[in-house]
Amino acid sequence: TKVLLRVEGLKKYFPINKGVFNKQVGNVKAVDNVSFDVFEGETLGIVGESGCGKSTAGRLLMRLLEPTEGNIEFAGKKISELSNKEMRKARRDIQMIFQDPYASLNPRHTVGKILEEPLIVHGMGNSAERKKKVLELLQIVGLNEYHIKRYPHQFSGGQRQRIGIARALMTNPRLIIADEPVSALDVSIQAQVLNLMQKLQRELKLTYIFISHDLGVVRHISNRVGVMYLGKLVELTASEDLYAEPLHPYTQALLSSVPVPDPAFEREQLIISGDIPSASNPPSGCSFHTRCPFKKEECSTVIPKMQEVKPGHYVACHLYDEMQH
Ligand code: SF4
Ligand code: MG
Repeated sequence: TKVLLRVEGLKKYFPINKGVFNKQVGNVKAVDNVSFDVFEGETLGIVGESGCGKSTAGRLLMRLLEPTEGNIEFAGKKISELSNKEMRKARRDIQMIFQDPYASLNPRHTVGKILEEPLIVHGMGNSAERKKKVLELLQIVGLNEYHIKRYPHQFSGGQRQRIGIARALMTNPRLIIADEPVSALDVSIQAQVLNLMQKLQRELKLTYIFISHDLGVVRHISNRVGVMYLGKLVELTASEDLYAEPLHPYTQALLSSVPVPDPAFEREQLIISGDIPSASNPPSGCSFHTRCPFKKEECSTVIPKMQEVKPGHYVACHLYDEMQH
């Protein structure tokens, strides 16, 4: 399988300024040394609690935010080194779907205009070609020509997300970064939108990065899943592997708080003590050590490295230090 996106040592630190002189007193390490590959045609899920840096990571990949450090390579090109003009071009190939389509759709524009806009921005096609493409995309996401002249408020939440998806697809992208795309929708509608995304992936050969706090949703759609905690990627493996045999204590705790569908397979409840520490003052060593039931001596001082403990199964935890293969 081909690597479509390679992320190496990605960091985003936000300065914390205080006082009359606005002096920098520290950093929020929103994304802290994250590395992963995304293979062509797959869905890579990224899960974690709110504030773990998963949304910031998504925005860095689109360069909607500038990284503090690190490399992002898309289809062999270093995104982090592209000029603004080159980046605009690259954005045709990488598009985003957001949690709240209502907030990202201009309420004063008709659906036709909303969908046409990316083509105008990227100088793609003449007026007739653009109109044809709008109609084509509306049909692909299960809407039709009667919707072209309507406004966002005239649609249900699920329909609005279909419009958001259609807009993301207008420029024929290869990679879609979906940030909590179904979290604002009713559960019954969530399944419809996820099924649509899977159908589109097959038909249009799309690659997805699917960001969500919802482990159930991520499991449903992802080939592989990465788990983030306080700005760091702590585990990454095939979806079935992660849910069957989570290795990182944080992943184990996250999964134990998800209702298990099969009653014959009840996971031992792991109690995580304490709240999530603040990202502006993360614990030293392993940032999970303040809540980890298995913590060892070195955990509070030595940052665990991401290591491949089984083929394709990566984990950053000192419990596996001797198992590296
Ligand atoms: Fe727990 Fe230590 Fe592993 Fe961190 S490195 S998850 S504190 S055992
Ligand atoms: Mg978020």
